[in-house]
Amino acid sequence: MTRPRLEVAEVIRNCRDTFLQRYGAGLTSEQRRALDDLTACRTAALGGHVLGCLECGHQEVSYNSCGNRHCPKCQATAAARWLETQSADLLDTPYFHVVFTLPSALGPVAQHNPRIMYGLLMRAAAKTLLEVAANPEHLGAEVGVLAVLHTWGQNLTLHPHVHCVVTGGGLAPDASRWVAGRNDFFLPVRVLSRVFRGKFLSGLRAAFQRERLRFHGRLKALARPERFHHLLNTTPLTSV
Ligand SMILES: [Zn+2]
Ligand SMILES: [Zn+2]
Repeated sequence: MTRPRLEVAEVIRNCRDTFLQRYGAGLTSEQRRALDDLTACRTAALGGHVLGCLECGHQEVSYNSCGNRHCPKCQATAAARWLETQSADLLDTPYFHVVFTLPSALGPVAQHNPRIMYGLLMRAAAKTLLEVAANPEHLGAEVGVLAVLHTWGQNLTLHPHVHCVVTGGGLAPDASRWVAGRNDFFLPVRVLSRVFRGKFLSGLRAAFQRERLRFHGRLKALARPERFHHLLNTTPLTSV
């Protein structure tokens, strides 16, 4: 891997004080922690270790990594390792990429209820793919799905979406054979959208009914059932 010309850690070190003066008070403890970790990653601040060769006496000093999940240095290695593990499981079949997106109107609710909302989003996406693919009108088989949650878009704004990598074929219902799909077409997007919407909204309504959602600050009004249901009814939820 080539070394980038400018590292995030350098930007942070250069602008840290000015940034903290202006925005420090509004940072969450997690954001503060990320800032500290990224500043210290692979510097003397985190300590280090020396690797030595017993034969020739050659020594190499390397500083410890922060391991923070927001650290580009640490995550580049983690991402490469993850890719390697996943590739080992790939089947000899075409794969399709399907993205399910949380409507932006529900973003703030998700920020206050990440565990419930993101769990719901992942499950609704996976169940939608399995159900539509199992329908004999479409593929009539059990597909394999790998789903990854992204909560931020590339422009660093909140944009929760699930990337699904799906096998373009699947196991027959009696598991006796592989049902191959078409190479150029997977499942109708319109149907995926509709099924996903149904599953996600009914899960969200159930969570609300069981009082599992929390509404703080400017979201307080949504704790009232009529306001919450109005939000759901007026939210377009068609993006796949
Ligand atoms: Zn790091
Ligand atoms: Zn993404």
